[in-house]
Amino acid sequence: MVLLYLAVFVVLSVQDQSVRPQQVSYTEFKVQVEADNVAEIFARGNTIEGSLRQDRPLPGAGENYRQFSTERPVFANDDLLGALEQNNVTVRATPVIQERGLLLNLLISVAPIALLVLFYLWLLRRQSGILGMGAGKKFQPVDPEKIRVTFKDVAGIDEVEAEISEVVDYLKEPHKYQVIGAKPPKGVLLSGPPGTGKTLLARATAGEAGVPFFHASSSEFVEMIVGVGASRVRELFQTARNSAPSIIFIDEIDAIGRKRSGSLAVGGHDEREQTLNQILTEMDGFSSSEGVVVLAATNRPDVLDPALLRPGRFDRSITVHAPDQKGRAQILGVHARNVRLAQDADLQALSRVTPGMTGAELANLINEAALLAVKRGRSEVDQRDLLDALEKVQLGTVRNVVMPAEERRRTAFHESGHALLGMLEAGADPVRKISIIPRGRSLGVTLSTPDTDRYGYDENYLKGRIVGALGGMAAEELVFGVVTTGAESDLQTSTHLARMMVGRWGMSQRIGPVQVLPEEGDPRVAGVSEGMLDAVAEEVRALVDECYTRAKGLLQEHRWRLEALAERVLDKETLDEPEIYEAAGIQRPPIAGGAALAGQQLNQ
Ligand code: ADP
Ligand code: ZN
Repeated sequence: MVLLYLAVFVVLSVQDQSVRPQQVSYTEFKVQVEADNVAEIFARGNTIEGSLRQDRPLPGAGENYRQFSTERPVFANDDLLGALEQNNVTVRATPVIQERGLLLNLLISVAPIALLVLFYLWLLRRQSGILGMGAGKKFQPVDPEKIRVTFKDVAGIDEVEAEISEVVDYLKEPHKYQVIGAKPPKGVLLSGPPGTGKTLLARATAGEAGVPFFHASSSEFVEMIVGVGASRVRELFQTARNSAPSIIFIDEIDAIGRKRSGSLAVGGHDEREQTLNQILTEMDGFSSSEGVVVLAATNRPDVLDPALLRPGRFDRSITVHAPDQKGRAQILGVHARNVRLAQDADLQALSRVTPGMTGAELANLINEAALLAVKRGRSEVDQRDLLDALEKVQLGTVRNVVMPAEERRRTAFHESGHALLGMLEAGADPVRKISIIPRGRSLGVTLSTPDTDRYGYDENYLKGRIVGALGGMAAEELVFGVVTTGAESDLQTSTHLARMMVGRWGMSQRIGPVQVLPEEGDPRVAGVSEGMLDAVAEEVRALVDECYTRAKGLLQEHRWRLEALAERVLDKETLDEPEIYEAAGIQRPPIAGGAALAGQQLNQ
């Protein structure tokens, strides 16, 4: 736009230059008249414009001119008209030189202002978009018709569904509650790890009740300029109220709802507080008969400001866990609905080898398998695709590099060290896979998963985990006498576990059953003394030392198993569970019942 204006301007001024009449003296003009070289003139007042019959050099300057303009002195009393008539000069009634039209002039002078105004309007529009005054564009509800998500799409969290179905009931028949005088839920807090289906559940609730769904993420509120977050909250609630009954869903509520006194937030502190206050005000403000239910999701319920959880606000809390085996089978089923499965595809079996995986991860697993099937040129997803996809999801994508023989050998011993200790430690999770194919950032991996879902750890199990994590490093030291950087992530795992055991889970005699390490922030701010922290550091060190000694001792004792396993790994690159136990000459423990925390362990 600006460029266009400039272009027009330049063209016009260049044109102006070329037709602009040459200022000449009156004397020169008279000379040309006498010389019979003036074709026509036009006079306005004493100003005379005209054009010559033939170009003439300008006196004193080299260039020629044809169009000219001159001033007739007021005191001139020569007979100009006579001279003109004598020399056949046409005296015109209209200017000889066409001036730019009035309209064009106007355009040129008005254009910059118009541009400025346009720019200003654009700024305003943008700003009002941010301010949320843009006719509520930001919070358009998802149309209830468009929400095809119902409880049928949410699998494996039946107890949660049961709890939230009260909300559905209320949204469908609010008067039922009004008649009796029962206070329906205003706010429900969904807490659980990422990917467990909190958003899905909220949408399904709206879908079941057939009401509009307003989705807002807390981070949207706090990233903005001060004062904007609160006004957006106001607008969100207003819009939702106008289309009640409806559901407002606030994702990541911990981003604005953190405890106010706690850790010092860097920047945006006031903004966060204002936004939070506005949410509280809005929730207090609407009466329960209005038919607006606020659902909020977080994976950090522990850091929430208690003000949020008071009655009349998010007084109901639903915890969503990663699914158990039955749940995983159902979730796999839901996501396999639109995927063509081969006869041999066994989702039940898959659900058994995926402990700890969330709904989102399982959905991704099915999709990865389908992609693999397409890549392999088949029209159905079979069990191989599913298992290969699982391997890719669990272990990472294979990297195409050729490893030097020496490095491969060291990796084989490193992984065998992890695996062997995992097999030797009583109560440790069975070893499922060893691979020395480089993937992602690691040169090799050892995967262990529990047979059943685990829900809690005991001290011995945790020590075993540390021993197993240190097994790679211990094997390298034992066999090669050196320690390499490959053990970095192992040290991270073992140190973290040891710190948790000592400082959080009360598993150290010396520290006792107290929580020294807070969930977040500096323990010193939380009032833990320096002496106590030193003691924790010493205890962590002692624990890790103990485990490392145990790892080396066990490997020494079973060195022949280590060698045998490493040779087999070197030979086949990837080993599955039966082969691992067979190569190490160890009996696979019977499938354990009972329960102990969830998830797979991946030692690199
Ligand atoms: P969260 O909000 O807890 O982080 P989402 O609701 O965004 O998780 O879940 C992401 C995706 O994972 C969903 O869109 C869905 O495809 C899948 N998913 C998660 N949990 C479930 C479940 N219980 N049943 C079916 N699919 C699920
Ligand atoms: Zn390792």
